[in-house]
Amino acid sequence: MTFGRDEQTWIPESDLEGMSLETLAVRAGQIRTGQLEHSDAIFPTSSFVYGSAAQAAARFGGDEPGNIYSRFTNPTVQAFESRMAAMEGGERAVATASGMAAILSTCMSLLQAGDHVVCSRGVFGTTNVLFQKYMARFGVETSFVSLTRMDEWQQAVRPETRMLFIETPSNPLCDVADMAALSALAKANDALFVVDNCFCTPVLQRPLEHGADLVVHSATKYLDGQGRCVGGVVVGPSRYLDEIYGFIRSAGPTLSPFNAWVFQKGLETLPIRMRAHCDNALQLARWLDAQPTVARVFYAGLESHPQHELAKKQQDGFGGVVSFELVGGREQAWRFIDATRMISITANLGDVKTTITHPATTTHGRLSPEVKERAGITEGLIRLSVGIEAIEDLKTDLGRGFEAIGNETH
Ligand SMILES: *Cc1c(COP(=O)(O)O)cnc(C)c1O
Repeated sequence: MTFGRDEQTWIPESDLEGMSLETLAVRAGQIRTGQLEHSDAIFPTSSFVYGSAAQAAARFGGDEPGNIYSRFTNPTVQAFESRMAAMEGGERAVATASGMAAILSTCMSLLQAGDHVVCSRGVFGTTNVLFQKYMARFGVETSFVSLTRMDEWQQAVRPETRMLFIETPSNPLCDVADMAALSALAKANDALFVVDNCFCTPVLQRPLEHGADLVVHSATKYLDGQGRCVGGVVVGPSRYLDEIYGFIRSAGPTLSPFNAWVFQKGLETLPIRMRAHCDNALQLARWLDAQPTVARVFYAGLESHPQHELAKKQQDGFGGVVSFELVGGREQAWRFIDATRMISITANLGDVKTTITHPATTTHGRLSPEVKERAGITEGLIRLSVGIEAIEDLKTDLGRGFEAIGNETH
C-alpha cells in the first residue's frame, strides 16, 4: 500500500507550526493507528505488551521509548496532553485525574517543607483547603492576599516564598489580576508564578504569554464543556513538567484514557463554545445591569468593571461567568433561584447548560461570615455560569426569577 502522505500516524508538530488556536484545537496531538481512523482512537488498556523479553527489558531499562503501563503513559492521555500544550503555548502538558490533582501535583513536586506560598484570597474553595490544611501539615505555609492589590502581594512575599498562585478572573466576582505585574514580582523573588486558567481556557487567555511559569486547569469545566468527566492538566516548560510528571507517575493521580478522550473531543469545539459563552454572558450582564432589583453586576466585560481595561488587554473575551447581587439578601436570592425553571440549580460551571448558584450557602458556605464579608460573597449574590442556549430563552427563564421578586422584565 502507498500513501500520499507517508505512513505517518501523527500529524507532526512541525506541520502545524504557526497555525491558529482553532486549528490546533481540532488537529494538534492526534494519534492515528494502523487502522487509519479519522476520529481520535481511544486506548482503554492498563498495560502494553512487548515483542520479546529483550524488548521488555529495554523498555523497563529506559533504553527504548514506548508504553509500559497506563499510570506512566497512555496514548489517549498523551494525545490530550499534546493538544493542551499546543493550545496553551507550553512545551509540555501533563494530565491528572482532577483539577485538584493538577494543583496538588504541582505543589508536591515543586515545593518542600519550609517554603512559603502567596495565594489570592478568592481561589476555588478546595484549593484554599489544600493550601491551608494539607500543605501546612507538610511545612508549606500559605498567605492569602487580595487578587488585585499589588501592595498586599509585595508585603506578603518573604525570602522563603517559592510560589505565587492565582485564578483570574476570580470566582464568583470576576476580579482580574495583573499577570505581568505578578510575574515580575515572582521573578524578582525567585518564586514560581502559577495560574489556574479554568475560567478563561486557552481560547480566551494564555497565561504563559503573560509571564506565568505554569498553568493549571480543571478540565472538568469548559475543556469538557458538557459536564461528563472530572480531570485536570498542568502546562508549562519541561524543566517543571518533568518534575510534576515524576510525581504523578509515582503518586498515581493519573487521568483515565476514557476521560482523556472525552476532553480531547471537548477541545475540538472549545473555541466556538467559548465564543458562544462570551456572547451570551455579555448580553445577560448588560440586561441584568438594567434591572431595578439588581444592586450590582460582576462581569469584566462591562465598562463599569474596575479591571475592564486590564481584562481587554490580557483576555480575548470576558468568559461565561456572570454574578449579580440582588437587593434584599438571601430570601430574595433563593426566591429568585427557585422561580427559574430551565436553568440548572447546581454548583458546577463551564457547561453548555446554564447553571445558577447561591455562593454564600453552597460553594462559599464553609467560609466564616467575616471571611465571606471580606471576600464580597454577600447573601444577595447569585452566580450564573452562562451556557449556550438562546439568549432570549435565558432571559425568559431569569425573567421568572425577577417576576417572583416583583421586578417586571422585558
Ligand atoms: C473546579 C475547579 C477546580 C478543581 O477542579 P476539579 O476538577 O473539581 O478537581 C480548581 N480550580 C477552579 C477554578 C475550579 O473551578
